[in-house]
Amino acid sequence: MTENKARVVVVTGGSRGIGRAICQTMASADTQIFFNYFSPADREGEEAAAAETIKQVEHAGGTATGFWANVADQAEVSAFVDQVMEAAGRIDVWVNNAGITRDGLLARMKASEWDAVLDINLKGPFLCTQMVARIMAGQRSGRIINMASVVGVMGNIGQSNYVAAKAGLIGLTKTVAREYAARGITVNAVAPGFIDTDMTKVLPEKVKEKMIASVPLGRMGSPEDVAGVVAFLASDAAGYMTGQVLHVSGGMYM
Ligand code: NAP
Repeated sequence: MTENKARVVVVTGGSRGIGRAICQTMASADTQIFFNYFSPADREGEEAAAAETIKQVEHAGGTATGFWANVADQAEVSAFVDQVMEAAGRIDVWVNNAGITRDGLLARMKASEWDAVLDINLKGPFLCTQMVARIMAGQRSGRIINMASVVGVMGNIGQSNYVAAKAGLIGLTKTVAREYAARGITVNAVAPGFIDTDMTKVLPEKVKEKMIASVPLGRMGSPEDVAGVVAFLASDAAGYMTGQVLHVSGGMYM
């Protein structure tokens, strides 16, 4: 294979929301973008969503390829990483963005809701990071960026599963940052607040109003607000940062 000079960026959960905005924000003529998605409930809808991400990246002057793969499944993650390596030969930036919610008060939470959220939001980043860190260690360079949440630091009523996963992801970030610093890999987390995506569209209007009232900047964030910070962490300007959590929450946490 000839040497690939393009920067290779991989985003998990790139078919919608924040992941799509990251793909679009990082698109450029000298960047190859790969992303995955996984929604057995509406495969047709997700294929269309993935095609929209590719269209937006191309519109921004870049190229993107989407793969069907579940981040919580080791064999599927392995196949996804292999496909990226076959196509691009290296991985410079990996963004663990894929995530879900299954909200409910602790007293009523089902073990299946706990497992689903922990599997995708925490085991997924573990599986991906383990495979990708090995590749980046060989390259002696790489950036891993984990999508945490402000609630992973503050806690939140009705989200014990999600908060535990995001707090765990922050712990994973700091540990992998320490383990791989000597290999030239930085590992950081972004902690978004209340962002306008499909994940928050389902919330009742009253809950949304209450949440916005708790944001000092007085509005929901946009997926682009988060994507800009991810692009910064992936840039040369952030080369001396590792093990950090950057809050993008309009001041919800300070
Ligand atoms: P979203 O609009 O619901 O998008 C989630 C993305 O993750 C989709 O592309 C989805 O693809 C993908 N995904 C879900 N399960 C997956 C799996 N098992 N394997 C691979 N991909 C999977 O959510 P979002 O708001 O953009 O959230 C993105 C990240 O930001 C999440 O980690 C979330 O926890 C975090 N976050 C969001 C907010 C917020 O207010 N929105 C705040 C803090 C943190 P499919 O639909 O095809 O599965």
